[in-house]
Amino acid sequence: MSGYKSVNPATNQLLKQFPDHQDEAVEAALAQADRLYHSAWSKGEIQPRLQVLEKLADLIESRVEALAVIASQEMGKLIGQSRGEVKICAQIARYYARQAAQQLQPQPYASELGDAWIEYHPIGVIVAVEPWNFPYYQLMRVLAPNLALGNPVLAKHANNVPQCAEAFAQLVEEAGAPAGAWTNLFISNQQVADLIADDRVQGVALTGSERAGSAVAQQAGKYLKKSTLELGGNDVFMVMDDADIREAVRQGAQARLSNCGQVCTAAKRFILHQDIAAPFLQQLRDAFAAVTPGDPLDEKTTLGPLSSAEAHERLIKQVNNAIAHGATVECGGKAIAGVGCYFQPTILTGITRDNPAWFEEFFGPVAQVYVVASEAEAVALANDSHYGLGGSVWTQDIARGRRLASQIETGMVFINSQSDTAAELPFGGVKRSGYGRELSDLGIKEFANQKLVVIS
Ligand code: NDP
Repeated sequence: MSGYKSVNPATNQLLKQFPDHQDEAVEAALAQADRLYHSAWSKGEIQPRLQVLEKLADLIESRVEALAVIASQEMGKLIGQSRGEVKICAQIARYYARQAAQQLQPQPYASELGDAWIEYHPIGVIVAVEPWNFPYYQLMRVLAPNLALGNPVLAKHANNVPQCAEAFAQLVEEAGAPAGAWTNLFISNQQVADLIADDRVQGVALTGSERAGSAVAQQAGKYLKKSTLELGGNDVFMVMDDADIREAVRQGAQARLSNCGQVCTAAKRFILHQDIAAPFLQQLRDAFAAVTPGDPLDEKTTLGPLSSAEAHERLIKQVNNAIAHGATVECGGKAIAGVGCYFQPTILTGITRDNPAWFEEFFGPVAQVYVVASEAEAVALANDSHYGLGGSVWTQDIARGRRLASQIETGMVFINSQSDTAAELPFGGVKRSGYGRELSDLGIKEFANQKLVVIS
């Protein structure tokens, strides 16, 4: 039985199964990627690599619908949101196609030792371990900068999105990338560990849970390989007493329910100033009650299923546990009866610090709501978290927004909007949300040899 299975979480129907790659196939893929690294493709002019990215962007734009349908069927994302994900992949490919040459220009350094500069070189084969929640975008965040730089990538996708993994690899090949530039592997965690240990591999990029991040980072540390980790988040959505409540509720509901709540930077902890807490909570409840659960391929559906039966089970247990420890259910709180991995949009209040939910990330449509009396209390609560990924602050006083943003211990903060992502903006966190940055000029330098050259 293969570990890689495509199952529609809206119907629990098995769509397709894929055989695992055996060790011989993994060795052949690694050898091929390593040969590519030592060839003119990786070490030579950047232009041929950028042309592939430009072509890839065109191809993706011409296939938005087909790619979106695969993702929606395989992991339950609403079709409109799947189209959005596919389009942003094209934007990332095009961004690096157009910006990488400039970003990788040598950087001069003033020094008394002589003429000095940093130049950027690829470092070798990189392993990418990626999750199912954005089954194309997560791959593109690693592929585009590394292809531009010249690092070949061996990719291990999550075992519930093999069709997306294959479709992505085919697109890269069709765009003209040589064999080895991006290789999709259906492999086990042990095979990932073996790859990281291999001398031909120079780094590993992982997006996923703390558990996966810790296991992969341990292995990378043992073999002294560079790693980047983009892990979970427990982002705050902080609404001050002078905020535009209507807009905050509108975006807050979206930020919690989009992708059925399975977003690392989703609004998970709503911190409300006491002066607006009651109307905000009432309006959020109304917004949650207004969703239409259903088939993710139906344009009228506004809440899809969770990505898998395992994710569904995990969320049910987590919510029950939060309630058992004293949380109050303002709305929802249960799985939606019937076929498929659906869960009611849920709001929990009354979560105390001794409730495990206080520190947990709910990867589903479950909002935690806290009420505070002051800015200082809001910041202290925001920072009482193991995570530090993103966050959102709502106030009409921009100076106040900047002050709050600067005090929140996360890698990203948005003022008067929900968290978002764009090719040109760095993405990543602090604390247990991981380290390193993806996208932007910072992302392309993570796996570069930033080589100093000095002429005295
Ligand atoms: P995982 O972290 O288990 O999966 C992410 C990827 O890591 C998958 O490709 C998975 O492979 C792989 N992986 C897991 N363990 C290892 C390991 N020891 N060595 C190598 N690769 C490994 O996420 P889950 O799907 O289990 O989700 C659990 C929780 O993780 C969520 O509830 C959420 O809190 C968090 N999460 C956060 C994401 C984010 O965007 N930051 C994305 C996804 C999850 P395989 O599928 O084969 O197990």
